Amino acid sequence: MSTGPRLQGKTAIITGAASGIGAATATLFAEHGASLVLADVVEEALAAVAAKAEEKGAKVVYKTTDVSDEEQVKALVDLALETYGQIDVLCNNAGITGDFTDMNSEDQENWKKVLAVNLIGPVLLTKYAAPHMKEKGCGSIVNTASVAGIRAGAGSNAYSASKAALINFTKTAACDLGSFNVRVNAVCPGLIETGMTKMVFDYARDTGKEAKLGSRCEMKRYGLPHEIAFAILFLASDESSYVTGQHLAVDGGNTASLNLPG
Ligand code: NAD
Repeated sequence: MSTGPRLQGKTAIITGAASGIGAATATLFAEHGASLVLADVVEEALAAVAAKAEEKGAKVVYKTTDVSDEEQVKALVDLALETYGQIDVLCNNAGITGDFTDMNSEDQENWKKVLAVNLIGPVLLTKYAAPHMKEKGCGSIVNTASVAGIRAGAGSNAYSASKAALINFTKTAACDLGSFNVRVNAVCPGLIETGMTKMVFDYARDTGKEAKLGSRCEMKRYGLPHEIAFAILFLASDESSYVTGQHLAVDGGNTASLNLPG
């Protein structure tokens, strides 16, 4: 097994690539030799991430894509195939929290939106990318789920449910695709400093409570995007060639703990 660049000669689609974990994954994949297809709903930031990956020597195309829109997803997969002729890695990373509300005020639009992006998006990308992986006889799909899909917190009904469903979709897709040598796994980040959590971090810093960020996990700190990107790189690469149907918590020990008081 080579210890050189992990994704040399491989093509990877990364959604939600304009920010946070997706941007860190794009940069890391570029450093490891991948050719990239980057997607997000935010064009300017996406272009900046694409430019950074190009500076690392990667071939890059990018396209504004809403992962919950089937036509746009199909166009993204078509772009990957037209540009590179192959798809080796699919990172379903785009996600939204939606509104955090209690059960009584939970509105249907919030549920629909969160499920459309966090669950249906990965389902659609898999629908269009997996046939090409099957035909090639190899591929790796990595879904960014969350510790919220393993353990629930009050108020995050739609988000937690979407991520729990994504973990189970990961496992069913792994069963469907395993015999074709197409692997499907998920990473479950804990609290990571990204665009998604900016409000939480800003509030903690503004109120002098920064030390509390990540204090619930065993490592007593929050995580950074590159720490998730390295886990995604492992699952995307041939180093994890016998790993499928798994969800890997990258959370500083958060979900390992009973979180007993005291
Ligand atoms: P982020 O907000 O920095 O990045 C998410 C990206 O997804 C953004 O660039 C956003 O524009 C994009 N996006 C949103 N809706 C989209 C859509 N419909 N189509 C395409 N792109 C879309 O946040 P992040 O933390 O880097 O999030 C990446 C993934 O990690 C998400 O799936 C999130 O649920 C998951 N996650 C994050 C944390 C955390 O603490 N930050 C924890 C657990 C899981």
